[in-house]
Formats: sequence, C-alpha cells, structure tokens
Amino acid sequence: METVLFLAHTEADGSLGKIALESLGAAKELAGDSLVAGVIGENTSTAGSLPASRVLTVTGTEFAQARYATDAAAAEAVCRASGATIVIAPATSRWARVLPGVTHRLGGSVDTHVTGISLRGGKLFATRWYYRQRMEGTFERSGRPWVLLLESGCHAPWSGAAGAGAVEAVEVPLAEGSCRTTVQGVQESQAGQQTIRPDAELLFVTGAGWTKAQRDGKPHVKEAETLILEFLAKTQASLGSSKSLVDISGEGQQVLGFLTHMNQVGQTGSTPRHPKGLATCCHGEEPHVVGWRFIRERRAVNLDPNCGWARGKADVLYVADAFEVLENVNRCLRETS
Ligand SMILES: Cc1cc2nc3c(=O)[nH]c(=O)nc-3n(C[C@H](O)[C@H](O)[C@H](O)COP(=O)(O)OP(=O)(O)OC[C@H]3O[C@@H](n4cnc5c(N)ncnc54)[C@H](O)[C@@H]3O)c2cc1C
Repeated sequence: METVLFLAHTEADGSLGKIALESLGAAKELAGDSLVAGVIGENTSTAGSLPASRVLTVTGTEFAQARYATDAAAAEAVCRASGATIVIAPATSRWARVLPGVTHRLGGSVDTHVTGISLRGGKLFATRWYYRQRMEGTFERSGRPWVLLLESGCHAPWSGAAGAGAVEAVEVPLAEGSCRTTVQGVQESQAGQQTIRPDAELLFVTGAGWTKAQRDGKPHVKEAETLILEFLAKTQASLGSSKSLVDISGEGQQVLGFLTHMNQVGQTGSTPRHPKGLATCCHGEEPHVVGWRFIRERRAVNLDPNCGWARGKADVLYVADAFEVLENVNRCLRETS
C-alpha cells in the first residue's frame, strides 16, 4: 500500500498556484481519501482546505522565498514526517530546482517533466515525453520514495471540499547560515515586457512575415510592433514566434524588440500547451508546427493560400493580410472593452 503525499509551496499571497491545484487533482485521483498533503510557505492557512486525511505544514518567514537551503530542509522534513512512498509535486521552477536533491537525501527516485500518472493493476505508472516531445514513454519505478514533478496543463485543477485531516505543524531544524541567500527581486525574461504566459487561453505566434517588405515594397516593423503589443495587452495571450523571426536580430535586420529566443516555438524551441493558437505571418513549416503538438484548436493568417498551414496543419486558415486583420481585431477589442 503506497502513501501518497501532495507537496506544494504557497505563492507570495499564501494561495496555491494553478499548477499546484492541478497536481493536487492528480494526487487526489490517485490516493482518494488517504491522501496526505504537505504545504510550505510563509502563510499556510490554505492548508486547512485541502482534501487530505493528514495535512502537514511548514510555516514561517524563512520559507517565504525560493531558497535551496530552506526549501530543501522543509521538503525533506515533510516527506519524512509523512512516511510517503509517492510524492506528487507541481513542476514549478522552485520545486524543480530543489526536489531532485531532496530525493537524493531520502534515498529515493525522482522524475521531472512528468505529464501523466495512472494506476494499472495496482501499480503506479508515469508518462513523459522524450526527444523533443516526439516520443511518449510510460514507465514504473521500484525506488521509494518516488518523487514526481507534474508539468502544468496536464490535469484539471482540483476544486472541492476539505478533507477530514487535522493540520499538523512540522518543525524544521535549520542549520546556521541557511537563510544567507535572499531573493532581491524578480527579473522578467524580456526587457519590461511579460509576453510568455503559460496559463493563457491563446498562443499568438508571430512569423518573419511581420518584418518583410509588404505591398508597398517596404517593411513596417514599428507598425507591426504596435499592433502586436496592443493585441497582447488586450487579450493577455502568450506570445510565441517562429525561429526565423527570433533569429533575424542576429542578422542585423529590423526586428520586433520584445522577442527573444525564449518565445521560439518548434523543434528547437518550446512545445507550449495552450488550448488555442493563432499564427500570423508564419509559414507553418514542419519544424515550427511540431511545437504546436499540444495546441488543440489552430488558426493561421497568411497571404499565401499554399502555405504550410493550408496543408492540414491548421483548422482554419485566413488568407489575408495580417496587418489588416490585427488592425480590425484590435478595433473590435477596443470597442468591446
Ligand atoms: C533543424 C531545424 C530546426 C528548426 N527549428 C525550428 C523551430 O524550432 N521553430 C521554428 O519556427 N522554425 C524552426 N526551423 C525553421 C523552419 O523550418 C522555418 O524556416 C521557419 O519556421 C520559418 O519561419 P517563418 O514562417 O516565420 O518565416 P517565412 O518562411 O519567411 O514565412 C513568412 C510568412 O509570412 C507570410 N506573410 C508575409 N507578410 C504577410 C502579411 N502581411 N500577412 C500575412 N502573412 C504574411 C508569408 O506568406 C510567409 O508565409 C528549423 C529548421 C531546421 C532546419
């Protein structure tokens, strides 16, 4: 009989993030009423509402910040106190940095980038993707505790009633100097522009066409920037890009100033998980479109009726000028907001 622990850290406001609630949903499905929950943070009052038979908390200002020494000590203490054989945790950057080391201290096994967990014949199996998301593998492990970091967007977030478990505070002995490191601030990956939003409903992809000569024989990069930024601000979509467009900056051409390689979607870029995607001025070549593997509803705007999207890669292709389309869409958004 496995003991399943859901292990989370709180966000700055004391709540559990969406990705944590998704992991909780998966853990609850697996363990049912016998789930044990562990919550770490400055304010863990949310722990009382979790659907668990036992709730362990580590609370204090020392645990407010993401810091290896204190996070690892707290996570280790909760894992030991729970007697967990299976630990399901959200794949936040904070946990991804710390939990492999904690697992080593516990003498267990750890898997990151897990996209699914399931029970078959009473045995636990995990799923993850390999070789740039081209192959999916399902596997089991004998090492215990088995720590699984679940990726975002892979399970419905938990919502429901609290369990019967009382909240127990776990003492964490901190070695001298554990709080030496402090977080002084958070720097966005783009200069002042937060454009990558993993939880957005829509992925908006820009392609190299935005910087190419248009009907009048001239490029209109500044106009493109204004249109795209207004659309992103109004819709809160996440911004993806083709490789050609993010590479252009290295080739000395006029570029969209807010794009970096972090935005690149595709074979050598990212494989985001938004429900919908809209590609603009992007040809839809295979190395780009493989990054759309998890996008369920796909649309594209391209002047070329023969572009890659037209060949079964998009649900809808609008054969149109993306400048005109975005101008009109932004106008509609302005009118309705
Ligand atoms: C090994 C390898 C790995 C690669 N990995 C990646 C990857 O990870 N991601 C990636 O994206 N690419 C990748 N590529 C490159 C990929 O093959 C394409 O070259 C790239 O995706 C093309 O980018 P694009 O569609 O933006 O540009 P282009 O091919 O230049 O297409 C521009 C498009 O814009 C359209 N257009 C122009 N003006 C307008 C307008 N006003 N309105 C509407 N449409 C307009 C044009 O019709 C055209 O279709 C890789 C290639 C290789 C060989």
